[in-house]
Amino acid sequence: MERLWNLLFLWYSQSMAKEPENKEIRVRFAPSPTGLFHLGSGRTALFNWVHARKHGGKFILRIEDTDKERSKLEFEQGIYDALRWMGLNWDEGPDIGGEFGPYRQSERTHIYREYLEKLIKTNWAYYCYCSKEELDEEREAMIAQGLPPKYSGHCSHLTEAPVGKTPQLIRFRTPDTRVEFKDVIRGTVSFDSSLFGDLPIAKDLDTPLYNFAVVVDDELMHITHVIRGEDHLSNTPKQILFQKALGFREVAYAHLPLILAADRSKLSKRYAETSLFEYKKQGYLPEAMVNFLILLGWHPKDDKEIFTLPELTEVFELSRVQKAGAIFNEEKLLWINGEHIKIADPKMISEFLIEKTTELYGKKFDFDFAKIFELGKGRAKTLNELVDVSGFFFDLPEYPWGLLTWKDETSESIKEKLLLSKEALLAIPDELWSYEKISEVINLLAERHGKGLIFSPLRVALTGLKASPEPIAVAEILKKTEAVKRIDHALKKIP
Ligand code: GLU
Repeated sequence: MERLWNLLFLWYSQSMAKEPENKEIRVRFAPSPTGLFHLGSGRTALFNWVHARKHGGKFILRIEDTDKERSKLEFEQGIYDALRWMGLNWDEGPDIGGEFGPYRQSERTHIYREYLEKLIKTNWAYYCYCSKEELDEEREAMIAQGLPPKYSGHCSHLTEAPVGKTPQLIRFRTPDTRVEFKDVIRGTVSFDSSLFGDLPIAKDLDTPLYNFAVVVDDELMHITHVIRGEDHLSNTPKQILFQKALGFREVAYAHLPLILAADRSKLSKRYAETSLFEYKKQGYLPEAMVNFLILLGWHPKDDKEIFTLPELTEVFELSRVQKAGAIFNEEKLLWINGEHIKIADPKMISEFLIEKTTELYGKKFDFDFAKIFELGKGRAKTLNELVDVSGFFFDLPEYPWGLLTWKDETSESIKEKLLLSKEALLAIPDELWSYEKISEVINLLAERHGKGLIFSPLRVALTGLKASPEPIAVAEILKKTEAVKRIDHALKKIP
């Protein structure tokens, strides 16, 4: 009987399997909205998106919310926010006011039902009446006998419901076979399905389980490539068996390597479960996150490490993704962020700085923020650091008068030089206030009195710091009134 079943399966799947009908590359990102959007989800989404864009294909977003208890709308919103933040737009979905809404599995129950009924009708699936207690008992008995636990098939031959029992599950009649598939990243992968037992595919006709709903959706959405984390590798042979039984197309698989800690151990919860928005809060740019995430498993042909999203859509190759675990290196993330800050759009950073400083200092500053960015960008690896290193523009730090001194100069001499600088600045008409003009008048003083003696007290007066960006550039941004006010403040300090 069993042999006959297996032969029938082979014949059936071969006769039903169809070649992919359309050659367009279609991928899907299929998150479950059961938690915060973290690094791993971001990486899976990115690899799918980049693969689709590289080939002019489609990127589909599918919300896998069949687990009604754990799925939450706030987590679903987090998925949209994170994808938008990273710049990963999706291409299809129900129309929600001119925008693509997502496909939600919870709205597709009637579709899965149809396919569940089909499997039951063709005898590929049957109702299982075993209770949880009975299954647990069976499992323990198998383990005690040293056997790998699986469902015994107790209900597989029933022709009607046992008296007093209600169906607990719908099970797939798993054929004993070898399921082999080609993974784009790991080559041929093979599983022995006889170890699976008859697999649960739904709790009832209206409650499909993950492995089953995925198969139906991937077929109906014409998915050509399933790109997902290695943690899903063991689901793949099961999904292939369902595909074959339903006469569906074959799909290409690519299982992305696990993300590991530096010592190759499992990534700690601290990182694995950190929301992507936590990085945003800490001052990471989406461009940097994207760059960092793509390198978690993929490497270009050369040594280039800094990429923008448009560049990735040209150079990315799925076949260059490694099998070995990808090491999560926080220092590298920081470095990548610093590099992206250097090439960031000044307008975008200015907007960020305006918002942040207004929030921090409770007022709006009339500064040229693009220039503040220009001065600070080489000294900051995160946006938060950029705000810190530029802090003296918004709030002059308190400093002891001694900081204003230069070598052995007397306080009178320092006072005199600061007064000279002040007068020189005051003499510049407002409309001529510019880097060049300030530079001209201050350098004239420096030539006469010595560079250090002019620049050092001026720097401290303008910034409150011993080390800072060059005082002329600072004065230009502060503008005349504030620059002179700060010099007056310094003059008052000197005894
Ligand atoms: N919903 C699954 C998850 O969030 C992904 C399913 C898949 O990619 O096949 O892990």
